[in-house]
Amino acid sequence: MTTKECRKCGIKKTLDEYNSDKKGVHGKKETCKECIKVYRKEFYAKNIDRNLERNRKYREANREDIRERQNKFYAENREKIRESRREYDANNKDKRNARSAVARAIKSGILVIPKECQSVIDDGSCDYSLEAHHYAGYEEKNWLKVVFLCTKCHHKEHSDKYDSVIGEYDGN
Ligand SMILES: [Zn+2]
Ligand SMILES: [Zn+2]
Ligand SMILES: [Zn+2]
Repeated sequence: MTTKECRKCGIKKTLDEYNSDKKGVHGKKETCKECIKVYRKEFYAKNIDRNLERNRKYREANREDIRERQNKFYAENREKIRESRREYDANNKDKRNARSAVARAIKSGILVIPKECQSVIDDGSCDYSLEAHHYAGYEEKNWLKVVFLCTKCHHKEHSDKYDSVIGEYDGN
């Protein structure tokens, strides 16, 4: 059987262990299939490493860019950002305080939870879990200005998609 020595590994192998190559001796490549396979594997591995490296570098460069942009934005909007954060915190604090004030008032009997949802749209779809809605806002003077709404109506009241479910509620 005709054999051929692989240029790479130096092993004499039968022709079927080489890929075809019209220009090669016996119409076969000088390097055996096995060696080509190994070479390809190494090539891809090296390429993947190179790609990863390239990506990493790109991200790093980009990260700097992004950071710079962010820093610039923060520097230019420092006061605005600080203010809106303060506002947000204050608003949430008021909300929390307003809620606990209602809870205390209910406990001590100052506020009484009604039997039914106080929304003006009484289509029979209200559920029984009533929540206190602060129709006048969360400032301290308004902490006990609440109307009791079912979960559904309360959600609607806070959503822009629906008309007010309490109308011009005046606290009576
Ligand atoms: Zn070989
Ligand atoms: Zn309701
Ligand atoms: Zn509410």
